[in-house]
Amino acid sequence: MSFRLFDLNDPQRHAATTIDGPLLILAGAGTGAGAGTGKTRVITVRIAYMLAQKIDPNSILAVTFTNKAANEMRERLAGMVDPEVAKKVTMSTFHALCVRILRTDIEKLGYKKNFTIYDEGEQSGLIKKIITKTAAIGEKLEPNLAKSLISKAKNNGWSAPQDEKTLLGSVFARYQAALKQLNAVDFDDLLLLGVKLLAEHPDVRERWRNRFRYIMVDEFQDTNRLQLEMVSYLANRDDGTAPNVAVVGDDDQSIYGWRGAEVSNILEFEAHFPDPTVVKLEQNYRSTNAILNTANALIKNNPRRRPKKLWSGKGDGDKIRLVQAPDDRQEAEFIANEIARRKSDETLQFDHFAILFRMNAQSRLLEEALRERQIPYKIVGGKSFFDRREVKDVLAYAACTLNADDDVSLLRIINTPPRGISETTVERALELSIKRNCSLFQALQSPELRKTVTPRAANAIAEFVAQLDRWETKINEPLVDQVAVFRSLIDESGYYADLRRSCKTPDEALKRESGVRDVIEGFDRFAQHSSEGLRGYLDAMALRQEKEDDDKDKEQGSGVMLITLHASKGLEFPHCYLVGLEEGILPHDRSKVEGSMDEERRLLYVGITRAQKTLTMTYCFNRFRYGGVVPCTPSCFIKELDPELIERIDLKKMLNTPVEAPAAKSRFAAMRALLEK
Ligand code: ATP
Ligand code: MG
Repeated sequence: MSFRLFDLNDPQRHAATTIDGPLLILAGAGTGAGAGTGKTRVITVRIAYMLAQKIDPNSILAVTFTNKAANEMRERLAGMVDPEVAKKVTMSTFHALCVRILRTDIEKLGYKKNFTIYDEGEQSGLIKKIITKTAAIGEKLEPNLAKSLISKAKNNGWSAPQDEKTLLGSVFARYQAALKQLNAVDFDDLLLLGVKLLAEHPDVRERWRNRFRYIMVDEFQDTNRLQLEMVSYLANRDDGTAPNVAVVGDDDQSIYGWRGAEVSNILEFEAHFPDPTVVKLEQNYRSTNAILNTANALIKNNPRRRPKKLWSGKGDGDKIRLVQAPDDRQEAEFIANEIARRKSDETLQFDHFAILFRMNAQSRLLEEALRERQIPYKIVGGKSFFDRREVKDVLAYAACTLNADDDVSLLRIINTPPRGISETTVERALELSIKRNCSLFQALQSPELRKTVTPRAANAIAEFVAQLDRWETKINEPLVDQVAVFRSLIDESGYYADLRRSCKTPDEALKRESGVRDVIEGFDRFAQHSSEGLRGYLDAMALRQEKEDDDKDKEQGSGVMLITLHASKGLEFPHCYLVGLEEGILPHDRSKVEGSMDEERRLLYVGITRAQKTLTMTYCFNRFRYGGVVPCTPSCFIKELDPELIERIDLKKMLNTPVEAPAAKSRFAAMRALLEK
């Protein structure tokens, strides 16, 4: 047994060894600012402890908030116990868990098992189409607004209204009907339908209850009502025995209000799971006191929170640096230069550094600056690989092969590459599919459509349909090498040739081709450790909420982490740069209108508490935004920090001051030493 309980402090050990009944692990006295108090570590050790007690690994479920967190926990656990045993423990996000439940039994809800999961882009596309069809002249509804309202409604467990009195109501109702017809579900449906299945089908509920006898939830403060219901259905027993459910959370880190997360969940845990053992963690093991106290000074300003006192044994540490930069380009260059310098001066590695930002748009200049200096980096939460056209195209090919009734994917590939099926023909087929209430694929095959198109188009359609049929048969053959089938169907589709034709430069074509190959190789890697096939791979791709590029990271070695504040939850880095502390960015523009200032403060709190040794925060006087240079105001949160712990740096002044002699000399000496080697 290679894990050691004595690596935990007393309350941590108490939590890790309390196995039966409900358990609530909180931070701080009277619950306090608890980032870095070892909550996640306790969960991991608790699993190791359970395994040492010979509890069946198959009966343990640990729910985390992101795939990245699940992977990290899996790795940590594999280091403590027999990796073969660790593998059998289920570590998953809520969404991934729902996919598993739905893939087994969704037929009970009137969907087919080969359902497709729509990501946000596909969701938007469908909603846009429905609004155009539904809105009367003069009626307006912003698709993104509709999307977020529908999502909110679903997360509250509301179904679409029966009467179609408002435009939003009818768009909602039609959207739901369209999804069902397409045999597709969106992200919110995963939860909604998963809970529905458990609620309405006792046999399904029983099966999963028997499977998972021990349930743990990390980052419980970010669960919403549906997720709480889900835990409740899985954990509670009909015979009234106490549920074995342990949750861990910190209400100061609740940052998913817009997704319907309810801070009250953690406060009301006791109402759902009576008589829990409550364990409070007070010692921070992650950060220096300068970092911790800066975080505390900030979060203190949130109303309605219970005061907490945290302490760290890591010493005071360096002051927090607050850097003001003339503009965002210089902000990026300063950081890139400094990382390069600190790496060599302080003999650090690139993966000791993280750059955290509020909005995806902020990453572009940072990436440029890093690239110019050949500093390797990985990006999480940004616009990524999965948003690339060619990646979406090949994934759509895969989706259609498995479920030809998936209209959105079919529309993507029907003329990519061009097959001689004209826009008008597609329009006609779509109209027919609406009239007949069938999928586009079915409409394409109907004699009625064939009568209305030219013989050439009819031929093209017949060929396309036959091709899809053939692929479907092939991919579903028992024991077939799905990776090989997938590879050959992309070859056969003529997609590569089309890329070469449609790209403006040979360079772009090469890049896109390699994107396609990356998808296929990704599937290959996936297939090596999973038996869930192409469908499982598509699910995994769709579930990558944080769009992290994990597999690729590993290949490319380590680099500076560029990450959004939201995606950084639960992670830690020795040296952090938190950029863009400006009004309109952090706090975000929307927050003032939506009254979510407290949540923005919590987001900054999450950012600060990611840092272990040093923290540098930056803001600019000018920023390139909305297509022009806009003057910026420092974030109102800066005033809330403790000035005693802050060292202010004016980049403009610093750049005009010559490098101090000793520093220059030592760098010169270091260089000479290097040359002499
Ligand atoms: P967050 O709220 O940010 O998710 P957390 O409470 O989950 O934080 P962990 O990530 O579990 O905190 O732990 C923070 C760091 O402290 C980790 O590096 C962990 O290994 C370390 N740590 C936790 N407990 C101990 C301990 N008893 N002894 C030594 N190190 C510890
Ligand atoms: Mg954690």
